[in-house]
Amino acid sequence: MRVGIIGAGAAGLAAAYDLTKLGHYAEVFEQAPFLGGQASTFLVGGGRLERGYHHLFVSDTDMVDLIQELGLGEKLAWLESQVGLFHGGRLWDFSTPWDLLRFKPLSLVQRLRVGLWSLVLQKTSNWQKYESVTAQEWITRRMGKEAYQVIWEPLLRGKFGENYDQISMTWLWGKFRLRVSSRQGILARERLGYPMGSFGEVFDTLGERIEQQGGDIHLSARVQRVVVEDGTATGLEVKLPDQDPEIEAEIRSYDAIIATTPSYIFTRLVPPLPVAYQERLDNVRYLAAVVLILALDRPLSDKYWMNIADLSLPFVGVIEHTNLVDPALYGGNHLVYLTNYPSRDSELYQMSAEELLAAYLPHLQKINPQFDPSWVREYFHHKIDGAQPIIGVNYGQRIPEHRTPFRNLYLANTTQIYPEDRGTNYSVRMGRLVARMVLEDAQAGC
Ligand SMILES: Cc1cc2nc3c(=O)[nH]c(=O)nc-3n(C[C@H](O)[C@H](O)[C@H](O)COP(=O)(O)OP(=O)(O)OC[C@H]3O[C@@H](n4cnc5c(N)ncnc54)[C@H](O)[C@@H]3O)c2cc1C
Repeated sequence: MRVGIIGAGAAGLAAAYDLTKLGHYAEVFEQAPFLGGQASTFLVGGGRLERGYHHLFVSDTDMVDLIQELGLGEKLAWLESQVGLFHGGRLWDFSTPWDLLRFKPLSLVQRLRVGLWSLVLQKTSNWQKYESVTAQEWITRRMGKEAYQVIWEPLLRGKFGENYDQISMTWLWGKFRLRVSSRQGILARERLGYPMGSFGEVFDTLGERIEQQGGDIHLSARVQRVVVEDGTATGLEVKLPDQDPEIEAEIRSYDAIIATTPSYIFTRLVPPLPVAYQERLDNVRYLAAVVLILALDRPLSDKYWMNIADLSLPFVGVIEHTNLVDPALYGGNHLVYLTNYPSRDSELYQMSAEELLAAYLPHLQKINPQFDPSWVREYFHHKIDGAQPIIGVNYGQRIPEHRTPFRNLYLANTTQIYPEDRGTNYSVRMGRLVARMVLEDAQAGC
């Protein structure tokens, strides 16, 4: 079979890898000049760093298996992570249940209530029962209003902005499950995985294998249109970088097409879809990730992951990558991500790197009173569109099928990952699943 794939992120590459491994031809088009999509990397101090912070959880077995299969297993390190919660003007340790017991902003009874219900969530596998209730309702009812307001609301606001009160409890349940899976015991710290050499190396190796297996990958190659004839997808209209500028675009033919773009891009690439399917695509809105990365000459904190439960700070997360991974890998730079998830029409999304820096830096002294702007050696600004689908209540009933209404056209994007939250692991799993679907359908003569 000849399969055309739109997007060289985790999903598109995993699909191309499996298809070519089985002797089929896959041709991948990626509009960016690099592989890896949302998990792509750039160079800092001689080391490769993700544009958006990345790690793996112990339960990310699809990604771990792929890393092993690519021969990079020895590079995958499992590292203890230090978690903090910034609340009420100070940084609290939040790595273990003991830390929760010491969290003074809540009364002892409230802390015990949070601990008890957290345990229940971690032990529950029936996520369906959380589908129709918002995280706000559920947490307020079980853990109490104050616990919700102190711990959870700022986190939900941070991740989902003004949509914070619409988020399904299933989404939050997924986060509890991930965290427990990454601990060796209930009282232990979590361990997170990181491929030394970066996620970029994993995707580059995957790209090499695809080519060795006979596939082709084109970077800086934008798909402009999916060609659909009589309800069947037959080709892609692509603009290749080395193409004669006189030529508008070229059409290549395929037996099947897999699109891994966000839904709002997919909609623009295809002819009008039947209303029911289009409604499912439109139903999910996305937030972008806006990330400012500071390369400091010394550490900002001792935490890898810091949730900001304080609306006076203009960012929702501080991820100090070099508290997980050795700064020596990045020329001795201490790398700190300051992160937000705004919508693309927000003011924050429009801000330049310099504007963000000016807005963020004064607040770093709240986290570390010694902090001085002279610590900043360099800074980098990344905007990642389509980063976070907004997962509302009863989301599971509105997910678009991988098999689209057009024959031989498949969609595999992060809105279809559920009940888990998006992640490289699930995109790899989905890419492989859709590759199998393509082959099964071809065999069945669909
Ligand atoms: C800030 C941030 C932090 C994250 N942290 C983690 C983490 O710690 N661990 C983890 O596992 N995951 C994490 N993720 C999530 C993870 O990166 C994504 O879920 C995963 O990489 C998505 O892969 P994908 O292939 O499904 O989509 P994408 O990576 O979005 O790939 C889609 C690709 O399609 C391309 N494309 C779009 N339109 C066209 C077109 N017309 N023509 C050609 N190409 C096109 C895009 O350029 C893109 O490369 C994080 C994401 C973000 C944003």
